[in-house]
Amino acid sequence: MIDFAANYRMLIDGELVKGEATLPVVNPATGQAFATAPDATAAQLDRAVAAANAAFPAWRALSPEERGGCLVRAADIIQAHLDELAVLFTREQGRPTAFAREEIAGAAYWLRASADLRLPIDVIEDTPERRIEVRHEPLGAVCGIVPWNFPIAQASWKIGPPLIAGNTVVIKPSPFTPLATLKMGELLRGVFPLGVLNIVSGGDALGPAMTAHPGFRKISFTGSTATGKRVMETAARDLKRVTLELGGNDPAIVLDDVDVDAIAEQIFFGAFYNSAQICAATKRLFVQDAVYDALRDRLHAMARGAKLGDGAEPGTMFGPIQNERQFARVRALLDAAERDGLAVLKGADAPAGGGFFVPLTIVDNPPDESRVVAEEAFGPILPMLRFHDVEEAIARANATSYGLTASIWTRDIARATEIAGRLECGTVWINQIFTLTPMSPAGGAKQSGIGVEGGLAGLIEFTQAKTVYIPKAGIPETAPPMRET
Ligand code: NAD
Repeated sequence: MIDFAANYRMLIDGELVKGEATLPVVNPATGQAFATAPDATAAQLDRAVAAANAAFPAWRALSPEERGGCLVRAADIIQAHLDELAVLFTREQGRPTAFAREEIAGAAYWLRASADLRLPIDVIEDTPERRIEVRHEPLGAVCGIVPWNFPIAQASWKIGPPLIAGNTVVIKPSPFTPLATLKMGELLRGVFPLGVLNIVSGGDALGPAMTAHPGFRKISFTGSTATGKRVMETAARDLKRVTLELGGNDPAIVLDDVDVDAIAEQIFFGAFYNSAQICAATKRLFVQDAVYDALRDRLHAMARGAKLGDGAEPGTMFGPIQNERQFARVRALLDAAERDGLAVLKGADAPAGGGFFVPLTIVDNPPDESRVVAEEAFGPILPMLRFHDVEEAIARANATSYGLTASIWTRDIARATEIAGRLECGTVWINQIFTLTPMSPAGGAKQSGIGVEGGLAGLIEFTQAKTVYIPKAGIPETAPPMRET
């Protein structure tokens, strides 16, 4: 049995610390607060950053195998507490428990996979005279700032890779979804040496205080593009490194050779999973003329048959919008679409009551300039956009300041591969969506981000390159800069 109103505490320097003040945490399925989370003071943040810095020298001095061992233990503990974490996750985030379990199991998997990552030493030259090598060394204390849509998965991405690389971390969940992350911190207490993993929670002031904090060497941020810009401005003051994983307005392009029946379900979940609160969800669905009507009718029928509700109830497929602010934004987009006379095809009714529910909605071929197409909705309103010519679809797909992901749906893999090369984004999926592996980098083009998470490229972002010139025979002559040697 879970005590939802438990005393949630932060993990600072290996200790569980309560807040001097607290923040209410709301169940989005009811609109009612059900628990409180600590609101870290400036002094508590200072303590977490100081602990991360103090822990750094000894942590980086461990072997990767020793650091990896801690990550594997963390993964085992998360996996062992999956049920409890999933129930809490659903209560604060809204997602149906079966899907919450997937995320938590995924986070454990990510930590376990991170344990196997190893930093390479790149050998630029190795001759009888000398060796030139590039090492990748950890940075120090890393700040990880996490959004509310995938709180545990995103936290694991900001724990596993920086820690295996030898950094220490301070993680901040969103004020909308702090509890499962705090609970995870409590469970992981004692797994890492003191100060290696710290988790702090707080309100709107905490993120800016972290990005401005002189004790961090790097900010790993996932959230909206608008906030990402602020993070980068603040980090620039002392040239902290940044990785920014930001918003998207991701296109799917469906060509007219597809079997509509075979792809409809994947397209549907690619747009609406987690009530469409996924950075990489399809947010503009471009469909070629010949299959447009059939796919629209299939998707609309699926939306009408969808079970919306409290994610804690068995059988619920789609939960609420996670928070009231986002709910108001999504409602405003829907209202604008209706006011502008767009063809709005609604799915099953949202449950009555105080929850933040929006029916799964398709907008039938709105103009590209309409708000519902031009803006990242981050909620279950899917614009379907009819096209005739594939060149036109590619140009329209690219006509956005975002560039996170895209998907292409066709039987012609060679053609899809060629189109993939022309889409301005960080990831392209062919006949699939949301596929991710811990070994593959993921990041945004244009205003969808800077840098990547995942794989060797993501690991290297948590390091500083150091080039070392090692003579092998005597003392080399000192060469003037830039002379060929
Ligand atoms: P948000 O930008 O409002 O908040 C993200 C995090 O930043 C939260 O923890 C928040 O408390 C913190 N924050 C807010 N203001 C800050 C500031 N000035 N300085 C530092 N931190 C600050 O985003 P959100 O609404 O929580 O999440 C939704 C957005 O995240 C969407 O745009 C979505 O596309 C994006 N997202 C991107 C990815 C990706 O991998 N590219 C993944 C998930 C979500």
